[in-house]
Amino acid sequence: MKSNNVLYETALKQFDAVAAILNIEDGIRERMRNPKRSLIVSVPIKMDTGKTRVFKGYRVQHDITLGPSKGGIRYHPNVDLEEVSALAMLMTWKCALMHMPYGGAKGGVQCSPEEMSQGELERLTRRYTTEIVQMIGPDKDIPAPDLYTNSQTMAWMMDTYSMQQGNTVPGVVTGKPLLLGGSLGRAEGTGRGVSYMVMEAARVLYKELRGLRIAIQGMGNVGSVAARDLYEQGCNIVAVADVSGGAYNPKGILVPYLMHHLKEHKHLAGLRDVDVITNEELFELDCDVIVPAAIEGQITEKNADKVKAKIVVEGANGPTTPEADKILQDKKVFLVPDILANAGGVTVSYFEWVQDIQYYFWSEEDIQKKLKEVMLSTFNRVLALSNKQGVDLRTAALMLGIGRVAEAKTLRGLYP
Ligand code: NAD
Repeated sequence: MKSNNVLYETALKQFDAVAAILNIEDGIRERMRNPKRSLIVSVPIKMDTGKTRVFKGYRVQHDITLGPSKGGIRYHPNVDLEEVSALAMLMTWKCALMHMPYGGAKGGVQCSPEEMSQGELERLTRRYTTEIVQMIGPDKDIPAPDLYTNSQTMAWMMDTYSMQQGNTVPGVVTGKPLLLGGSLGRAEGTGRGVSYMVMEAARVLYKELRGLRIAIQGMGNVGSVAARDLYEQGCNIVAVADVSGGAYNPKGILVPYLMHHLKEHKHLAGLRDVDVITNEELFELDCDVIVPAAIEGQITEKNADKVKAKIVVEGANGPTTPEADKILQDKKVFLVPDILANAGGVTVSYFEWVQDIQYYFWSEEDIQKKLKEVMLSTFNRVLALSNKQGVDLRTAALMLGIGRVAEAKTLRGLYP
């Protein structure tokens, strides 16, 4: 696939570099570079005005060597085949890195969800699910929430799939409401995993977490949970930003008030006791940690040099371009890469799926304990490889993920 998409180019560049380090055989390399299956669908729905609109939807399964594929569904105007393919590839490496029995997938619909009513979003979700129904299933491909999708979206997907099967199939999606077979701790899983990674990075660099000055871009599922957790651990959340702009208070933002404001107003705009800043300014602030937890391509060659934080923990997928990565490495920034930093989501999704297919549900305490164990042990594996090979954490994480898939492909051989 020839691409104009930065994320897709980035994913391929990262793969090629790591495949060369690992000396992966050419045939296997070629297979791993290309998605296994891609589906483009038209999603026609009746809008509230009575008019019919047709949206473009996608589902890409990048790889299924280690098990069914797994990956989120995003609703965003930028969604296209290349973006979804890149994110599906990242999911393959992420699942392998975390030792999950999954391959990677991703899906999405090109739309502006913030301009759509609940009714329109429900019709869009149900029709999109119907269009990709042959591809998904608890043993085949298991969607989850991503940008601008949530537990309600997953409930509609699960219901639509179940109606077509004639029986209830909770394991077809993860990130569902608790009542429908969701897991305790799933809604917080990604953000909590991000905060564990901030804590581990701080342990390596500073030995002390209290008072750490943190700036977070994105106040959705990932960013808001990370903000709350880190505030509770005694960190100073000095800046936050979302699509409506940013807020800065060098003395620290009162996070319970911030959560209340977001609940009432959805966006940050209008938050009191803060200086208004732009998203661009957030990345240049005098602080210790930056958590990009919104969209891709936020730290680029244009602003990487201005980053003052010594730690970057990538809550979002692909927030740093390869050029910026190089600049941050030269500045000795401790960067915890996306496939590790935001893997708490897929980890608790895996726990949810296991509970669903066994119809046996675990306590929140068990889930938090297991999540912490998986995140910390993976962090330590990545850090050890990075130190041993003298490579950055992203390369080390990719080496572990990509290496595992290449090894599995070698063992399985090439069919027929
Ligand atoms: P979300 O829809 O819940 O929240 C997105 C946030 O980003 C919102 O606060 C929104 O205002 C902000 N945002 C959107 N566009 C922006 C822009 N142009 N500038 C600044 N802010 C902007 O999404 P989420 O689930 O929190 O996902 C955020 C990121 O984390 C995405 O990259 C996603 O792929 C990644 N991720 C999410 C999960 C998960 O479990 N939800 C898991 C792994 C990775």
